[in-house]
Amino acid sequence: MEIASIRACFFVMAKHIKLFIPGPIEVRKEILDAQTKWMIGHRGKPFEELYAGIQTKIRPVFQTTSRVFISTSSGTGLWEAAARNCVPDDGTVLATVCGAFSERWADVFSRCGKPTVTLTVQEGKPITPELLELEISKAARPFDAIAIVHNETSCGVINPLAELVAVIKRLTPNTLILVDAVSSLGGVDINFDGLGLDVLLTSSQKCFGLPPGLSFAAVSDRALERARSIKNRGYYFDFVEMEAFGKKNNTPSTPAISLLHALDVQLDAMHAEGLANRYARHKRLATMTREWVHESNLEVFAEQGFQSPTVTCVRNTRKLDVSALNRYLETKGMVISDGYGKLKDTTFRIAHMADTSEADLQELLTHLNDFVACSAPL
Ligand SMILES: *Cc1c(COP(=O)(O)O)cnc(C)c1O
Repeated sequence: MEIASIRACFFVMAKHIKLFIPGPIEVRKEILDAQTKWMIGHRGKPFEELYAGIQTKIRPVFQTTSRVFISTSSGTGLWEAAARNCVPDDGTVLATVCGAFSERWADVFSRCGKPTVTLTVQEGKPITPELLELEISKAARPFDAIAIVHNETSCGVINPLAELVAVIKRLTPNTLILVDAVSSLGGVDINFDGLGLDVLLTSSQKCFGLPPGLSFAAVSDRALERARSIKNRGYYFDFVEMEAFGKKNNTPSTPAISLLHALDVQLDAMHAEGLANRYARHKRLATMTREWVHESNLEVFAEQGFQSPTVTCVRNTRKLDVSALNRYLETKGMVISDGYGKLKDTTFRIAHMADTSEADLQELLTHLNDFVACSAPL
């Protein structure tokens, strides 16, 4: 091979594009490197210590004093776990739907054979306490579980979780509350014990700033008890198995050990930053992004008051060519996301989560300004 082509090849391999897409998000080099530790067996003491250390560090992120299950799967696996462990085959789950992800979770309940009722709002709008109250009072008998996607990544809506939970606790206290916080937990304050949630699940590749491959769920005693009474929970996602092994600081099957090393290092970093500081930084990043949207004569897609602190969905009112925009950003070593699902062609999304700094985001916004100024003069 000639020197030039070797150089070109190396350049392609080494080219680093910073991810401002809502998963997988940018991962710091230190975290990537943590995955290269020597392999250990998962049935030995060093693994138990790793697992136990992770438990003491991850529980405060979920604001729980009980268990956080660690699954070697993406968050979708834990959607399925919530369905199979928490809803009896002859029961009913109410799935609230406000976009593409919550719609898919509703579909997962159905595909697991669980009778599913949906409460759907238009994309961009939140699930409100009033609508939830109406749906609960219409039901012939109490729902066995209610599913809420806290932060709908497809349209950048954050739902008023505490208010929704208050409605459920008041009207139907025995109903399990299942919450997807895949694109919020770690970037937004969520108090599992304080709210009295039953399942709170998230993925590694969003606000935790890890590579994809792991997902985490806090699970209440009540949900575990429910699981014990439900047949055909399967094995891989069985909460009862996870609990039995978790008590021994272990997992039912071989976990992604390299990712657990990365998680261990990242949890230290999250606590070093301070969780409150982390939440505040996410709010500042969201504010910066929304200001850019307004200054650029574009619009935030989500309704005012329910705009996500971790991802901004932008209504592309100036008909910017998002593919061309990303080709331009790529030359600057960055990428943003196009719209998702039904909103693919009319919106684009900027993720501002995990370890993104104000300086990182400012750099992105500067490049966006340059592109917008040349391509779509007002
Ligand atoms: C990304 C995402 C999912 C899917 O998670 P995976 O880890 O890709 O399985 C589910 N819900 C929300 C809100 C998401 O943003």
